[in-house]
Amino acid sequence: MSTITHIKQFKKQQLKKKNKAKTLCNSGFHQWEIIYKDQFDVKRGCLITTYQCKHCKKSKTNSA
Ligand SMILES: [Zn+2]
Repeated sequence: MSTITHIKQFKKQQLKKKNKAKTLCNSGFHQWEIIYKDQFDVKRGCLITTYQCKHCKKSKTNSA
């Protein structure tokens, strides 16, 4: 049993997934993940939630 072969296969699979995800990102389909939930924005005077895309690390905020 070779661990290296397994790792190589795993990396290949990850790469495939990444490429697919990048394509989705480019099409505007980001996979948003909450990084800061309900943080108070002093400037806007409201609660905001910050999201970051799992794949391309792009971030966005949403006011609650
Ligand atoms: Zn993205």
